[in-house]
Amino acid sequence: MLDCLIIGSGHSGVTCAGLLAQRGWNYALVDSGGRIGDVWRRRPPGLQLFTSRRFCRVLDEPMPGDQDGYPTVGEFGDYLEQVAGHYGIAPLFGMQVIRLARTPDGSFDVHFADGTRMNAATVIDATGANGNAYVPAFAADLDPSVRQVTCDAFRSHDDFAPRQAVAVIGDGASGRQVAAEMAAAGHIVSLARGRARKLAPQRVLGKDIFYWLVKSRLLFAEKRSALGRAIRTRDPIPVAHLSDGRLAGKGIRVTPRAVAAQGNALFFADGSRMRYDAVIWCCGYEPVLDWIHLPAIRFPGDLLLGGGVTAEPGFYVVGRKWLTCRASELIVGAARDAKHVVDHLCRWRASVD
Ligand SMILES: Cc1cc2nc3c(=O)[nH]c(=O)nc-3n(C[C@H](O)[C@H](O)[C@H](O)COP(=O)(O)OP(=O)(O)OC[C@H]3O[C@@H](n4cnc5c(N)ncnc54)[C@H](O)[C@@H]3O)c2cc1C
Repeated sequence: MLDCLIIGSGHSGVTCAGLLAQRGWNYALVDSGGRIGDVWRRRPPGLQLFTSRRFCRVLDEPMPGDQDGYPTVGEFGDYLEQVAGHYGIAPLFGMQVIRLARTPDGSFDVHFADGTRMNAATVIDATGANGNAYVPAFAADLDPSVRQVTCDAFRSHDDFAPRQAVAVIGDGASGRQVAAEMAAAGHIVSLARGRARKLAPQRVLGKDIFYWLVKSRLLFAEKRSALGRAIRTRDPIPVAHLSDGRLAGKGIRVTPRAVAAQGNALFFADGSRMRYDAVIWCCGYEPVLDWIHLPAIRFPGDLLLGGGVTAEPGFYVVGRKWLTCRASELIVGAARDAKHVVDHLCRWRASVD
């Protein structure tokens, strides 16, 4: 039986694997994909991370290049793979977990899509916060002639016929970037708002905003503290360079929230409607949890209650939004959360052995 099974070889899983290896644990790291870093390589080529290289460090291995510059998604994927190689971390690929349950003896029984199974004393869920791009149910009411694309499937404006009427739904970082790219390529673009969020500049006093957020510890404010709650409510995103005003200057019409669809038209919260050739859904992501069959985990929220230590003894989670603080979902927060989980896991295992 394995001491620990880590599911998911993104930066969170690789960080946990590094920590467990240092402590001499008999662990395995599995991933449904075929290569470390593919989550990043699947994103539009050339897309840059919003955190500078200094804040993309995994397992204390500095990312090569200008520390104040922003890596591309492909560059980060390759770097992550190299770090894992450097630490001798070798995931088992093509291993999609489809069911996680308890055995009668209290260990974990893990079922894979290829029919194989593993048995582990403890499990870390590092499958990430972004398994599914969220699409509202009313998308099904759009006519099939309207092309629909989710933000994770969007690659380039080149994939669309010229001068299309395009609705980008969701005004987070991805939605604003996609809208700007589509407008620059000559499409007639509108951007529908989601919930109100504060837009922060990407650089302050010549430095990456994350430099100041880390230095001031704002990024690590505990989620239940007054500061943590305030940050969570405002939920700032570093895209002030793509403010509503700037987008309007690029010819993009910013609309209220999209609430319904019929035929070729979308309906908005102010009662207006517009016809479109294509809709790009940038409404955020949700984790995939249907493989978890554990008595203490009944709702997705159950995973977020203990800062990565769940109510199911021996089952842990890393790399989710607001596990402990704003940084939990970010590369810069992985080391802290992973150490918290691995420390707890080692103590718990020692107490039951
Ligand atoms: C568009 C976008 C841009 C982002 N940009 C930044 C940025 O600039 N800076 C930053 O710090 N953060 C950024 N983030 C946030 C953050 O880095 C991601 O959420 C990150 O991918 C989470 O890392 P992870 O290791 O937890 O999960 P992931 O990187 O998502 O890795 C999860 C792994 O689990 C595997 N997996 C999933 N389900 C299963 C299963 N059932 N069985 C086996 N394997 C499975 C997947 O194949 C994958 O390899 C961004 C997120 C998004 C969506």
